[in-house]
Amino acid sequence: MDTNIMMRRSWAEIDIEQLKRNYYVYRAHLPSDAEIMAVVKADAYGHGGVRCALALQDIGVAFFAVATIKEAIALRENGVRGEILVLGYTPIEFAWAIAKYDITQTLVSEEYAERLAQVSGTMIKCQFAIDTGMNRIGLDVTDKKRCAEIISKYSKVFELNGIFTHLCVADSESESDIEFTKKQISSLGELVESLGDVNLKYVHCMNSAGGLFHSFKDFGIEKNIVRLGIILYGLKPDISNRLPDGIKPVLSWKTVVAAVHTVKSGEGIGYGRSHIAQSDMRVATIPTGYADGYSRHLSNKGYVLIRGKRADIVGRVCMDQMMVDVSDIPDVTVEDEVVLLGESGEEVITADDLAAIAGTIGYEIVCDISNRVEKYVLR
Ligand SMILES: *Cc1c(COP(=O)(O)O)cnc(C)c1O
Repeated sequence: MDTNIMMRRSWAEIDIEQLKRNYYVYRAHLPSDAEIMAVVKADAYGHGGVRCALALQDIGVAFFAVATIKEAIALRENGVRGEILVLGYTPIEFAWAIAKYDITQTLVSEEYAERLAQVSGTMIKCQFAIDTGMNRIGLDVTDKKRCAEIISKYSKVFELNGIFTHLCVADSESESDIEFTKKQISSLGELVESLGDVNLKYVHCMNSAGGLFHSFKDFGIEKNIVRLGIILYGLKPDISNRLPDGIKPVLSWKTVVAAVHTVKSGEGIGYGRSHIAQSDMRVATIPTGYADGYSRHLSNKGYVLIRGKRADIVGRVCMDQMMVDVSDIPDVTVEDEVVLLGESGEEVITADDLAAIAGTIGYEIVCDISNRVEKYVLR
């Protein structure tokens, strides 16, 4: 059996050229001396971590961020050469890998730094996370003196090349959120000033939204960095955001019509018979379900595109299949292409659109696309 042929069951198409365009468009909005750290955690938000990192490396990106040590190792083993920062906790048992693969590890707390110091023989690369108000990880910035002491102490234990914080409302346009973000940024700046002779190469705070909607802060160090995630993939940090012209989704998700049949008025469709036909209807069954990562929360709510028209999901999304109403789309036949995310004729459906229906964010829609969905790079 040739398993290399494209399997037209449920697949994603990755437009690598669009990924690069998104990078260039975003880059043009930053001060010229700013650097972009490509956030390729979670398999590049479902787009393929190694392939996206390598494509960006080709156009000059030298900083990458991931969430786990295994994601970092996968990048290294596949030829990513730049700095790779693990943004969160790594189990202490994996400390050896930080050194071996020349990874930069985030120190999530003072206690974590101490535990890591106990087991790491060599000067591993690290950066301290600073908590400026999100209450997730990092040293509490409200006690600057204490922060400075800890940073100074561990700068002698590790190759401490930076500190960073994370913004939690940078995607919001409300006045109080804008104020909050400014405060987060300025408190990091004040901490840097109080550090005196500790020599940090990298101080960074911007995510996609921060770099686009907030003015860039020059921390007076070697490199100003934006940690660019979601917008690289052409999606919005928040549904209310407006992205610069030229930024478009990189991923399309497609499937096909597996079967078409008639459902008589009064009959139920799918598990729980949650949709009862109000009149005779034509229904197409498509081979994508929640095990492929298509949210079950879209049952009876979401829609797909067939022949440039919308077809509503009828009944519950099953594990491997779902049913859609094609009564108003003439001539739907087996093997017709079905667009779950992307364009069909004049119609478009984005991860942000689906997220709004499912009550989540675009990030989750693309991250949830499972391994069963084959990914193909468009050429
Ligand atoms: C995920 C993440 C980012 C990227 O955020 P986007 O909103 O996708 O740009 C940046 N920094 C940290 C610490 C993160 O965890």
